[in-house]
Amino acid sequence: MNVNQSAPPVPPFGQPQPIYPGYHQSSYGGQPGSTAPPTPYGAYNGPVPGYQQTPPQGMSRAPPSSGAPPASTAQASCGQATYGQFGQGDVQNGPSSTVQMQRLPGSQPFGSPLAPVVSQPAVLQPYGPPPTSAQVTTQLAGMQISGAVAPAPPTSGLGYGPPTSLASASGSFPNSGLYGSYPQGQAPPIGQAQGYLGVQTPQRSAPSQASSFTPPASGGPRMPSVTGPLLPGQGFGGPPVSQPNHVSSPSPQALPPGTQMTGPPGPPPPMHSPQQPGYQLQQNGSFGPARGPQPNYGSPYPGAPTFGSQPGPPQPLPPKRLDPDAIPSPQLNELPPQQKTRHRIDPDAIPSPIQVIEDDRNNRGTEPFVTGVRGQVPPLVTTNFLVKDQGNASPRYIRCTSYNIPCTSDMAKQAQVPLAAVIKPLARLPPEEASPYVVDHGESGPLRCNRCKAYMCPFMQFIEGGRRFQCCFCSCINDVPPQYFQHLDHTGKRVDAYDRPELSLGSYEFLATVDYCKNNKFPSPPAFIFMIDVSYNAIRTGLVRLLCEELKSLLDFLPREGGAEESAIRVGFVTYNKVLHFYNVKSSLAQPQMMVVSDVADMFVPLLDGFLVNVSESRAVITSLLDQIPDMFADTRETETVFAPVIQAGMEALKAAECAGKLFLFHTSLPMAEAPGKLKNRDDRKLINTDKEKTLFQPQTGAYQTLAKECVAQGCCVDLFLFPNQYVDVATLSVVPQLTGGSVYKYACFQVENDQERFLSDLRRDVQKVVGFDAVMRVRTSTGIRAVDFFGAFYMSNTTDVELAGLDGDKTVTVEFKHDDRLNEESGALLQCALLYTSCAGQRRLRIHNLALNCCTQLADLYRNCETDTLINYMAKLAYRGVLNSPLKAVRDTLITQCAQILACYRKNCASPSSAGQLILPECMKLLPVYLNCVLKSDVLQPGAEVTTDDRAYVRQLVTSMDVAETNVFFYPRLLPLTKSPIESTTEPPAVRASEERLSNGDVYLLENGLNLFLWVGASVQQGVVQSLFSVSSFSQITSGLSVLPVLDNPLSKKVRDLIDSLRAQRSRYMKLIVVKQEDKLEMLFKHFLVEDKSLSGGASYVDFLCHMHKEIRQLLS
Ligand SMILES: [Zn+2]
Repeated sequence: MNVNQSAPPVPPFGQPQPIYPGYHQSSYGGQPGSTAPPTPYGAYNGPVPGYQQTPPQGMSRAPPSSGAPPASTAQASCGQATYGQFGQGDVQNGPSSTVQMQRLPGSQPFGSPLAPVVSQPAVLQPYGPPPTSAQVTTQLAGMQISGAVAPAPPTSGLGYGPPTSLASASGSFPNSGLYGSYPQGQAPPIGQAQGYLGVQTPQRSAPSQASSFTPPASGGPRMPSVTGPLLPGQGFGGPPVSQPNHVSSPSPQALPPGTQMTGPPGPPPPMHSPQQPGYQLQQNGSFGPARGPQPNYGSPYPGAPTFGSQPGPPQPLPPKRLDPDAIPSPQLNELPPQQKTRHRIDPDAIPSPIQVIEDDRNNRGTEPFVTGVRGQVPPLVTTNFLVKDQGNASPRYIRCTSYNIPCTSDMAKQAQVPLAAVIKPLARLPPEEASPYVVDHGESGPLRCNRCKAYMCPFMQFIEGGRRFQCCFCSCINDVPPQYFQHLDHTGKRVDAYDRPELSLGSYEFLATVDYCKNNKFPSPPAFIFMIDVSYNAIRTGLVRLLCEELKSLLDFLPREGGAEESAIRVGFVTYNKVLHFYNVKSSLAQPQMMVVSDVADMFVPLLDGFLVNVSESRAVITSLLDQIPDMFADTRETETVFAPVIQAGMEALKAAECAGKLFLFHTSLPMAEAPGKLKNRDDRKLINTDKEKTLFQPQTGAYQTLAKECVAQGCCVDLFLFPNQYVDVATLSVVPQLTGGSVYKYACFQVENDQERFLSDLRRDVQKVVGFDAVMRVRTSTGIRAVDFFGAFYMSNTTDVELAGLDGDKTVTVEFKHDDRLNEESGALLQCALLYTSCAGQRRLRIHNLALNCCTQLADLYRNCETDTLINYMAKLAYRGVLNSPLKAVRDTLITQCAQILACYRKNCASPSSAGQLILPECMKLLPVYLNCVLKSDVLQPGAEVTTDDRAYVRQLVTSMDVAETNVFFYPRLLPLTKSPIESTTEPPAVRASEERLSNGDVYLLENGLNLFLWVGASVQQGVVQSLFSVSSFSQITSGLSVLPVLDNPLSKKVRDLIDSLRAQRSRYMKLIVVKQEDKLEMLFKHFLVEDKSLSGGASYVDFLCHMHKEIRQLLS
C-alpha cells in the first residue's frame, strides 16, 4: 500500500495504481442481506401525514470509489491548530496587480451592452467553422402580442404562484383559469379560438403538421399576426395559432452566416455531432417533425406517425391530436384533427428533454471525453461516457454552467448567465477510470506558489530553463526547489511532465505533511459512533431490533483503504431516550457495561477507555450488546427524547479520543424532553403562501447552529436517520447534519415490513461510504474572477474556506464566481479546487482538481458553451436557499426574471433577425424553460396540499448537496415504457416525456426521480402482461400500492425487476417501488411527477410556461 510512500517525488505513473483497489466495499452490497419483504404497501391507506412518497433513498452504485484512497501512513493524534494550507499570508486569488507578468489586455474591449458587436456583425461574417450550436426558433404564434387579444402584459412575473395569484395576472392572460386549477385532463372545448392560444388551454393539441421549418431565419420577418395564416413561404402551414411552434432553423448549409454567431474567432467546440450540426438536430427532435410521436408512444394515437412529415408549404395542416384526454378514450382519434389544432401549441414542437438527451447519447456517448482541450463542454450527465484525464478535471468532479466566460463583468451582467461550478471533490468513478494518483513529495510537501498558495498543476509555466515557474493563477514568479528541478524541452515543457501527475493531469492527490495537520500532529484514524433512540416509538416499530441485528454484520464492512484487511475505524455505541446510555465494550470484558448520564444539560462522556473500540478485537462484546439492546428496552414506556445532547455527547467522545469521525443518529420524534435543543411543534400550514412561510424552513432555535460549529471544529460529521410518525421539525433537526457535511434520511411512518429494505439499503451504503474527514476546501481562481458564493452541506467561518467535518463521494459543493477584473481570451480562466482531508485510515491528504475555461468577448460564445443541467442545479440551489429569507413568490419571480433576461440577451445580441412573434432559444439552453418550470413547481417552491412541512424541509436540504445528474432527474423524472421495446432487448428502454399524454393505457411504465419509483399500469394493458408481472389474471386484481413485484419466472418479469434494480443502483438512495394503477386514487401521487403537465398546486404546464417566458422576454426586448 505504501507505493508512494517515501518514494521519490515521481510516483510510478502510467500504470494502474495498485493502491486503489477501491471497490472492495461494494461487495457487501451484494449480500442480499436483508430481506425484501414483499408486503403490500400499507402506508398509503390511511391519512398519512405527508404522503409517503417521501424519499426513498438509497443504495448504491457500487462503483469504485475514488474516494479516499489508501494510505499508509502515520497516525498520531490531532489537536487543533491552523492548517498549513491556509496560513495567514494566504491570498486566495493572488493580488492582481503588482505582479511581474502582466496579462495581455483583452483582445477587444467589450463595448456597451448594446453594441452591435455580437449579433449584427455576426450576420455579415463569413460562415466559419461548422455550426455547432444552433438557435432554436420557435414561433409561438399565440403569444403574439399584436394579436387582437393582446393586452398590455403586466410587467412583473405573474407569478406562477398558487392559483390565487393568478387572478391578478389575468391582464396578461385573458383566461386566467390557466394558472388556476384547471382540472387535469379536461380539455377545453376544441374549437375555441382564443387569442392567447394555448396559453389558456393547456390542452395539447397535436402537432401539427410537420411543423415545417421555415426558411433561414434571415428571411423576412414574419407577420406577427395572431390568427392569420402564415405568409407564404414561411414554412408552416397552418394558421400560426395552431402551429405555433416551429423551427425556423435552416439546415446548416442554408444557414445564413449570421445565424451562426460566428463573430468571435476561434472555432467553437462542437456541441453536437458533426453530422447533425445545428438545426438538424431539432428537426429530428424536439421540434418534432421527422420524429413524430415518441418512440414508445403508441397505441392510442394511430394517426400520430405523420407528425411533421410535411415540410413544405403547408396549407392544409394535417392536424394531429395529442390530447391527454385521449388516453382512456381512443375514440378521440376519430375526431377530425383539423378542429383540434387551432390555437394550441404542439407539444411535440417545443424542445423535448428526451430528444436532447437521446441526441447527446448518440452523438457523444461513443467516444471518450478527453479533457485536454480548454473550455470543452462535456457530454450531458445523462450520457454514459468515459473520461480521459489529459490535464483538466473530469466532469465527474467539476461541471460548470458555462465553459466560456465573458471577459468582462459588464458582459456577464448583461447576459445574466450565472457563472458557477458544481464540484464533487470525492466523486466515485466507474471502474474503467483510474482514481487520482497520489503524489508524495516527502518532507518538503507539495509545491505551491509562494504568493497565492496554488498547488503545482499542469498550467504552471516553467521558465528560465526550468529554474523558475510562473504561477498561472496570480502570475507570481517562483523558484523551483533544487530537488524538483528538471530541464525543459524545445517547447518549454518539462521533460518529466508526463511522469508527474501534477504536471499532466487535471486531478491528483498529494500526501500532506504534518504542516497540514491540526496542531502539527498527524491525525488518528476516525471513529464511528452509533446513537440509537430507544424510546417507545423506536421499540414499537421494530426499528431497534432491526438495526441492532443489521449492525452485527454491517460492522465488518466499515470503510477500508487499499488492501487493508480491516478498517482502521473504531466504533462506539450510545442509546438514548431522555437520558443517554453509554456502553463500555472493551475487548477484555465478558459483557458490555452500561453507564447512564441523566444530566443532559451538561453532557459529558462517562468513560474513555472501552467506549471506542476496534470491531474485530471487541467483536464478542459488541455482539452481546447488540443482542441485548432490543430486550433491555422492550418494555419501555418512555416517549420523550432529547436530541442536541446526543450530538453533544458524540462530539465530546471524539474530542476526548482526539479524532475525527461520524455520528449515526437513529431518531424518531420531536425532541420535547427538557434539555438543550428542546423543540416545540411549530408546524403551521396556514403560513403557506404568506410572508411568514420562510419561517417553516428556518431552525426554531440557534442552539443547533452553535452545536454544529463545535462539531465542525472537531471533525465530527453527523448522519441522521429519521423515523417520524408526525412532525419532527426536519428544518431544525437537519441543521447539524447540514453544516457538518452529513446526510439526512427520512422514513415517515416507518414499519419494518414495508420499509426495512429501503432503510437497510441506505444504512449499508451510508456506513460503507468512503468519507474524507475534517476537511477544508478552497477554490482558487486565476486573476479576474473569484469565488463569491457557496452552496452545499458545509460550514464556513470565513469567506473562502469551505469546512467539512465530513465529505463523501455523493456530496457536491456549488461555487459561484464573479469578476473582479477583466479576463482575456488568450489566457482563459483557471479554477483549482484543493481539498485537504483525513482519509478513512487517518492519512492526511490533498486532492487537487484543475479546470481551464475559455473566455470570450462575444456573447454568442457564452451561449454556445453553456450547460443547462448545471445552470438548473445552481438556480435550484440558489432558490432553495432563498426561501429561508424571502417569500416564495418573490423567489419564483426572481428565477423567472433571471431566466427571461438570459434568453432576452441572447435574442437581442446573438440571434438572427426574426419576427418578434418567434421565441428563439439558444441551442444549449433550449431546455432551460422546461427545467426551470420544474424547479418552480417543485414541492419546496410551490407545494401541493399533500406535501408536509417536513417533506419540504427535507427535500430542500437534499437538493443543496445534489450533483448535476441528481438534480436533473429529480426535477425532470425519467419515464420508461416497459412493453414497447422487444422483450429480449437488454438496453434500457428509451424514455418518454413526463406528461400524461405520453402514457398509453395499454402499457406499463416506470417513473423515477432519484427518490421515488413508480410502476404505472394502464387500464387496458394486456392480460398476458398483467399475468407475467403480477401473477394475477386481470388488471382489477393488481394490488394498488404494491411495493414489491413477485419474482416470476418469465422474461418480462425478469426484465422489469432487473430494470428496477439497475435504476436503484444508479441512485445514491434506495427508491422504494410503488405500483400505481391507472385511475386509482394513488395515481394522484404519480401524476405529481408528470412535470410537463399543469400541477394541482398551480404549477404551470410546460406549454403554458413557455408562453409565459416568451412574453417576459418580449417585454424585456420592447
Ligand atoms: Zn500564485
